[in-house]
Amino acid sequence: MSSTEKSPDFVREIIAAEIASGQWDGRVVTRFPPEPNGYLHIGHAKAICLDFGVAAEFGGRCHLRFDDTNPTKEQVEYVESIKEDIRWLGFDWGEHLYYASDYFEQLYQWAVELIQKGLAYVDDLSADEIREYRGTLTEPGRESPYRNRSVEENLDLFARMRAGEFPDGSRVLRAKIDMASPNLNLRDPVMYRIRHATHHRTGDAWCIYPMYDWAHGQSDSIEGITHSLCTMEYEDHRPLYDWFLDALGIHHPRQIEFARLNLSHTVMSKRKLLQLVNEGIVTGWDDPRMPTLSGLRRRGYTPASIREFCDRIGVGKTQNLIAVELLEHCVREDLNKRAPRVMAVLHPLHVIIENYPEDQVEELDAVNNPEDASMGTRKVPFTRELWIEQDDWREHPPTKYFRLSPGAEVRLRYGYIIKCVGVVKNERGEIVQVRCTYDPATRGGATDRKVKGTIHWVSARYALPAEVRLYDHLFLTPKPDEDENWQAQVNPNSLERLTNCYVEPALANAAPLAHFQFERTGYFNVDPDSAAGRLVFNRTVSLRDTWSKIEKKEARSGG
Ligand code: ATP
Ligand code: MG
Repeated sequence: MSSTEKSPDFVREIIAAEIASGQWDGRVVTRFPPEPNGYLHIGHAKAICLDFGVAAEFGGRCHLRFDDTNPTKEQVEYVESIKEDIRWLGFDWGEHLYYASDYFEQLYQWAVELIQKGLAYVDDLSADEIREYRGTLTEPGRESPYRNRSVEENLDLFARMRAGEFPDGSRVLRAKIDMASPNLNLRDPVMYRIRHATHHRTGDAWCIYPMYDWAHGQSDSIEGITHSLCTMEYEDHRPLYDWFLDALGIHHPRQIEFARLNLSHTVMSKRKLLQLVNEGIVTGWDDPRMPTLSGLRRRGYTPASIREFCDRIGVGKTQNLIAVELLEHCVREDLNKRAPRVMAVLHPLHVIIENYPEDQVEELDAVNNPEDASMGTRKVPFTRELWIEQDDWREHPPTKYFRLSPGAEVRLRYGYIIKCVGVVKNERGEIVQVRCTYDPATRGGATDRKVKGTIHWVSARYALPAEVRLYDHLFLTPKPDEDENWQAQVNPNSLERLTNCYVEPALANAAPLAHFQFERTGYFNVDPDSAAGRLVFNRTVSLRDTWSKIEKKEARSGG
């Protein structure tokens, strides 16, 4: 189903109804608010497509705001990667780039205002004590002995917290709400903590930092956001955001929560992804096995395929697990239209065509993409010595094996029909060479003679050596997160490096990240590690689409 036939999701329905009833003066302003403490992943892509998509559809705008309230975990590297990834996905925040850290002074002033209104206080309890006093879902919390300090004392202490008089962890500023609230978020949440740490943007200007919950809603308000779209785990925080905004009497965006994306055979928490990087389980945030946007890009995923995926999974409120096969299906569909087809041999077997002249070279015409005639044709050199796939030859073929075997004939793609007339084995009895003859009358299909099998090949003289990296799921099980020891689920065979491959010479100058279909073996792209003389390709996906099977099964089980 394409997006145009689809009925709008509940988020779009809510917004459309509000706009129709004249709310917000017809304006829609959304934002994507990442914390720059890691690289973006495919889950973020869902949020980005929604935030930017909704804004565009309602003629509004979407801000990019870095929620950079935690100086110890955030880095400039992450800020830059996040911008790059959003642009790559195809979205643009224009001039609306913001940082929560730009609002530190305003947030401080608002905190002072709450103190003056008797709605916030400085607490000397330790973090452990605060937790202990907080109570549980079944037990109300207890009030801190510091809760009823005078406004003057609170103002003085808070100013001295800012001035750097107190060590980390010695005091916090808390909102004075309700220690007996059934919603734990309302039990006097911490607004500020002391952290003598250097911030990636504000440097050493501050030694108190706002908590996310105190910064987030006010940042949305400052920017005039109309619709704060966020994931379900913030539903319980909404009453707190409402409380802050109402206490301050400032612009009050509408928050709408939706279910986060969970994808099978991977983990998505930034903490876990960072662990994979730090422990060397992957080569970096952009390892092609990672669910990060930089990993998917390096793997050969296109922005269009990821947007299509986000469109297909839709937006709802119920948690579910999306099969990674759907993502693979989307990139296959896109690359089928876009990627030129070429020939590459991954597991080479040497073929000699005995009756083909030693010095002869023919330039055969090959079609770049049968799905798209405008992509044209190219020349492929044909010579006496070739490489074919080991798997395309069997000494003892099973029934219905239509490729090469002793005495059998097969068509070489774009070339001739050849016949196997013998083999050469080494002293260990392994086949090192297949001897064939060719029929000159069959060039490029110019014959009535039909053979059942067609195989790909490259010229041994002109082919370029290449390394090809094949990938499997990074995790063995669909939900590695379910296991306390999720790292035990890492697939030890998620990367297979084939260092002895050959590709046709047309690939000599292929640009980094360029996409190809290697005929019969999958969609591949040029890895950024690739260099002239040392070509490296990643397999994005194989050609075998398993999604339709899964889809049918899910439909049957009502999933
Ligand atoms: P983590 O919990 O791994 O640290 P996060 O949700 O804290 O991730 P943020 O940088 O705060 O990461 O996320 C920015 C935005 O992306 C938030 O609005 C968040 O709701 C959204 N988001 C994060 N993960 C997903 C996901 N899996 N599916 C949909 N949206 C997501
Ligand atoms: Mg977060």
